[in-house]
Amino acid sequence: MTARIIDGKALAEQVRSQIAQRAAALAARGEQPCLAVLLVGADPASTVYVRNKVTGCEKAGIRSLRFDFPANVAPEVVMAKLAELNADPTVHGILVQLPLPPQFNESEVLEAISVDKDVDGFHAENVGRLSQSREAFIPCTPHGVMKMLESAGVPLVGAEAVVIGRSNIVGKPMAMLLTNAGATVTVCHSKTRDLAFHTRRADILVAAVGKPRLVTGDMIKPGAVVIDVGINRLTDGPDAGKLCGDVDFDSVLPVAGAITPVPGGVGPMTITMLLENTVISAERAARRKGL
Ligand code: NDP
Repeated sequence: MTARIIDGKALAEQVRSQIAQRAAALAARGEQPCLAVLLVGADPASTVYVRNKVTGCEKAGIRSLRFDFPANVAPEVVMAKLAELNADPTVHGILVQLPLPPQFNESEVLEAISVDKDVDGFHAENVGRLSQSREAFIPCTPHGVMKMLESAGVPLVGAEAVVIGRSNIVGKPMAMLLTNAGATVTVCHSKTRDLAFHTRRADILVAAVGKPRLVTGDMIKPGAVVIDVGINRLTDGPDAGKLCGDVDFDSVLPVAGAITPVPGGVGPMTITMLLENTVISAERAARRKGL
């Protein structure tokens, strides 16, 4: 058997064209969607992510505002900007690129963003709403994974799902979304005693670890759906400089039923869901204004 490839790039293009239509309809009603992005410092990876988010906005007809602060900025300066953006009725989404330098308390910053503009879905209130299956902004990466599973027609109700990773931005919300969708979910992490024991039982395996090629073919149940969230840059060997996921694609491909590639899998869906959340926020604002 050779696994079917779940093409995140193609799905992202399709979803982004729908988002662009919704953005244009909002603009025509006088409510152009707008995302504000705050970047502190000049971490190279963060700078690339922010640039991609801004470009993604432009292509979808979403206005973007970018605010750059030096790495040694006082937290009060960033908090003041957040207060200003919270109060600005023309801004629908606000995100602070993580990680932040050590002088910041990350949770304090995330909770200074208005719950209604928290398009990353990291505010504790949105996390709580998600855990109660209430309307919430859903963190973009796990939300993108859910869209991919849906578009690939993967049955979730009653499925055994295993998530490797328990971070606030990927692993935990991923487990919550799969639980809400009716899967039986196991969450593994660095203290898990026998990772392969769990992964071999998975109908759906989501790897969000940050360890290149951690998951190998012998850890996969034949026919399983394998979603690779990891983005790792290889530093040595023949593939040095290339990107790879947490899944050893070559050994998993002949065993799995479906698999996402890296690059071209989950990555393109993450920014897509950020754009969608911004449009959803603008649609809510337009409804509130009776537009
Ligand atoms: P974190 O470092 O915050 O979390 C990694 C998780 O993996 C932790 O829960 C950790 O366990 C667990 N872990 C580490 N080593 C092992 C191991 N040997 N076995 C089992 N579990 C292990 O990372 P993120 O969640 O932020 O990101 C995960 C990956 O996804 C990264 O490669 C990141 O670049 C990528 N990513 C990709 C995105 C995309 O758009 N495609 C978006 C966001 C992230 P413990 O909690 O015990 O430390």
